[in-house]
Amino acid sequence: MRFHILTIFPDIFDSYLKESFLKRAQKKGLITVTSHDLRDFTKDKHKKVDDRPFGGGPGMVLKVEPVFRAVESITRKKTGRLKRRIVLFSLRGKKLDNKAAQRFAKYDELILICGRYEGVDERVAQHIADEEISIGDYVLSGGELPALVFMEATSRHIPGFLGKEESLEEINGSFPTYTRPEVFVPKKRKKWSVPPVLLSGDHKKINEWRRKS
Ligand code: SAH
Repeated sequence: MRFHILTIFPDIFDSYLKESFLKRAQKKGLITVTSHDLRDFTKDKHKKVDDRPFGGGPGMVLKVEPVFRAVESITRKKTGRLKRRIVLFSLRGKKLDNKAAQRFAKYDELILICGRYEGVDERVAQHIADEEISIGDYVLSGGELPALVFMEATSRHIPGFLGKEESLEEINGSFPTYTRPEVFVPKKRKKWSVPPVLLSGDHKKINEWRRKS
């Protein structure tokens, strides 16, 4: 799976991708991530990626040309028969959920367009992106966090990304977990205990409890 991120802040991704699961997946060759600086796809000397909105109003709008050129530069390369999807992060998009993440994991290449400012020139949604995705009903300053959320949620569905134990959690759904100590006593408070069933060694009962919780 190849991820291409189009952004005006390409460095944002470095530290997160250098840790944990996404790092391991890159090492294993399951995913590659390339972030592209949209400013590299401008032609003026100020590398301008934004402009004022037609019709007036506050703020600036991310221009269509740098996004177009960046996508062209990625898709121009001969890649054979590649299953590719171009995603634009937008508050008006379809909400990302596990089912959508599973669907995206089937592509060979995902191009992720991160908006900024007051948003992105609508022609990107109309003519360049295959679909718009929102990660929830709250406003962020840009599409970079949504891109990280999207990559991690999607990558978890790539065979081999998760270890055996985590896969099991994925299948069974989420349940409450505890670890040692069995009893924790915060100062001047009642004790906090682990549900006895988890200490019973009875795996049938434990599974039942996990299903119900
Ligand atoms: N004023 C705009 C908000 C722009 S936020 C509006 O009302 O639509 C700037 C950019 O951040 C957006 O273009 C989008 O790419 C990204 N973004 C912000 N919140 C997001 C969310 N919840 N899900 C996906 N992308 C989001």
